[in-house]
Amino acid sequence: MRHASAARGLAAAALIVCARVAVLNQAKFVVMAPRVVRTVQALRRAVMPWRTAGERIALVPTMGALHAGHLALVQAARRRARRIVVSIFVNPAQFAPHEDFGSYPRALAADLAALADLSVDLVWTPSAEVMYPPGFATRIVPEGPAAVGLEDRFRPHFFAGVATVVGKLLIQCMPDFAMFGEKDYQQLKVVARLTQDLDLPLKIIPVPTVREPDGLALSSRNAYLNPLERAAAPALQRVLVHCAGEITRGELLARVLDEGGAAIERAGFVLDYLEARHADTLQPVTALKDCPIRLLVAARIGKTRLIDNIAVSGGRIAKRAKHGIS
Ligand code: AMP
Repeated sequence: MRHASAARGLAAAALIVCARVAVLNQAKFVVMAPRVVRTVQALRRAVMPWRTAGERIALVPTMGALHAGHLALVQAARRRARRIVVSIFVNPAQFAPHEDFGSYPRALAADLAALADLSVDLVWTPSAEVMYPPGFATRIVPEGPAAVGLEDRFRPHFFAGVATVVGKLLIQCMPDFAMFGEKDYQQLKVVARLTQDLDLPLKIIPVPTVREPDGLALSSRNAYLNPLERAAAPALQRVLVHCAGEITRGELLARVLDEGGAAIERAGFVLDYLEARHADTLQPVTALKDCPIRLLVAARIGKTRLIDNIAVSGGRIAKRAKHGIS
């Protein structure tokens, strides 16, 4: 089933790209479709000559259904590397049985068309059978930032699934850079830790969150929101911005978070967490002097679970407190 729908997706992508080339040909301009590889051997064969030629390679790992947030990662990759590989793989290992693996949006044709516009060199889109062949028996189970009581409290399976697949993607591709969005802030920290702990010779590059004009962070899961939920959803970022301002002004952190959580629930969400954490370690903080601080939130509206986060600016109060000045 999965192979058949993937093949249909690729055929549709080829049609779209041909059509685009035909239209653009009239203007004597051709958009090159990225090359698609579906086996580890083909990926390595494609990447090897770039490496031999000393060209820098950036990997952008995604689960597809690409939006402007993903494309910002590709643009950031372009600023650092001559060659860009985008992986598209909806990773079954990071979904619990009750989660949305089956209904997660898949849009390979549109994804390939979007990547053609950005001159991506290679799209690495393995099947689940290629990524996890029969007999597969190894998992990376991260600790540290993966075990701080945020996403891990609500999705206990999640970071082992992410770490295992990201570890595999990095080893398969061996890029010089790998781009990750700040939108998934805890994931970014887990991947950075994993890369360091496993001595992988590459740099993890964080990319700021891309938002809708009303502040909602772009996410493939926003497609699940009905119009009423979509109208309520920007409350998440609004509350984060408000709380960050209050904390910077020196308001009591616990009170700010309590009031912020209540405001999120008034907007129609069920709150999983709204927390202030150390921006590097993700350990709990109690006051502005413990900076740098990141506010992180996860909340459910209808059937959709959204996450977001922002930095709290330290301001003068934190600096003065740190240096013992009152
Ligand atoms: P996903 O396809 O959801 O697994 O995301 C793939 C990558 O895109 C991850 O590194 C995400 O953090 C990043 N990403 C997702 N949404 C955004 C966004 N709105 N802004 C920036 N990066 C994002």
